[in-house]
Amino acid sequence: MEITLYNSLIKKREKFIPLVDKQVSMYVCGPTVYNYIHIGNLRPVVVFDVLRRFLIHLGYDVVFVSNYTDVDDKVIEKAQADGVSELEIADKYINAYEQNLADVNAMKPTHSPRVTNYIPEIISFVEKLISLGAAYEVEGNVYFRVSKDVRYGELGNFDPAELQAGARIEEDSKKESPLDFVIWKKTEVGIKWNSPWGLGRPGWHTECVVMIDSIFPNKYIDIHGGGFDLKFPHHENEIAQSLAVNNNKLAHFWMHNGFINIEQEKMSKSLGNVVLAKDALEKFGGNVVRMLLLSTHYRAPVNFSEEVIEASQNEINKISNTYRQLAVTLQKHSVSLTAGHARELDAFLLALADDLNTSNALAELYRVLKLVNLELRKRDFNLNELANLFQSLTSMLAILGFKIDYPLLTNEDYDLLKQYEEARAAKNFALSDELRAKLAQRNLI
Ligand SMILES: [Zn+2]
Repeated sequence: MEITLYNSLIKKREKFIPLVDKQVSMYVCGPTVYNYIHIGNLRPVVVFDVLRRFLIHLGYDVVFVSNYTDVDDKVIEKAQADGVSELEIADKYINAYEQNLADVNAMKPTHSPRVTNYIPEIISFVEKLISLGAAYEVEGNVYFRVSKDVRYGELGNFDPAELQAGARIEEDSKKESPLDFVIWKKTEVGIKWNSPWGLGRPGWHTECVVMIDSIFPNKYIDIHGGGFDLKFPHHENEIAQSLAVNNNKLAHFWMHNGFINIEQEKMSKSLGNVVLAKDALEKFGGNVVRMLLLSTHYRAPVNFSEEVIEASQNEINKISNTYRQLAVTLQKHSVSLTAGHARELDAFLLALADDLNTSNALAELYRVLKLVNLELRKRDFNLNELANLFQSLTSMLAILGFKIDYPLLTNEDYDLLKQYEEARAAKNFALSDELRAKLAQRNLI
């Protein structure tokens, strides 16, 4: 199946061909762990989880890495404010984040490296940049020399000369150019490490590039993902460093997901409309949040509003009711839940192969749902057909990452169902009503 993905680096769709046959290497920038994440941080989690599940379904072996930024000014400030260590702060919010991942049914990354476990690698990477003339030290800080990279601005789509003309040089800055960015930061307060430049800690932009350099043997990967807001300067700066050290642009495909608005407004602390992921997940459940994030194409903005939440809830209820009813019907007729073939998947997979068009994929899922309902309503439905439709739905739900349960019938359930059918056939309405209530309680009717 030919997959095309939008590549932010070249600003167009491109045919996806992995660097190594049948294997895909992916990296998605993870959270800075000093606070609970908001709903916007959950979007890349869900989007790239679906991409990963889709690729796995097609038979690719996917290595998926997402980091934790566990050292940063914000982590240090939070640790000082709470009177605990940075490690404790990081542990607390990593646990909370991992709970969010589980609640939204995202697969665990193959590796989740913590920056604090990569300090020696970061220091030697910075040393390498200095020895190549791509970085310089000033009073304990090390800066990347942007003028070294002739292609700087490619991802962010700007001309460095123009940006430089517009940039203000901070009064006390010792940088050669306002575009230069810190890759090793002199630190007086909080957690710090010894380095050739004195006590300090890594700069944010240098973390991800070192993770990729250290974890992936080719130091170049298939897909680098993240939110649209990371494109510049974060990802631009990752590329600049990778070009300097490894002479590559770090990843073949650069993919960015769009923002989330709250009731058509930008989510911001100052507007007081920030929705925490944990609150949304607790209130609406993982399936509804996932539906809300997947109903819109990943590059377009998602609007988080009461209306959209309600629509997502309705969709999940519809899927859940039909899927359960289908599973129960098959079991009632002693059809194995592994019987049948997923014959209705082609258009669904083609939609995802078209730059991960989840809204079109969902439309296909609804089409199959309709087929199920039509078949179930028939007096003499075709069990083979129902088994096939069940397999199609099961695959679709798994690829989109929805977790929809269905009851597995016990012997007692079978007895009740049999008694109910007999009571109905005998027109014993009192008994059939009684049995019906029992079956409804067990979600079997
Ligand atoms: Zn990153």
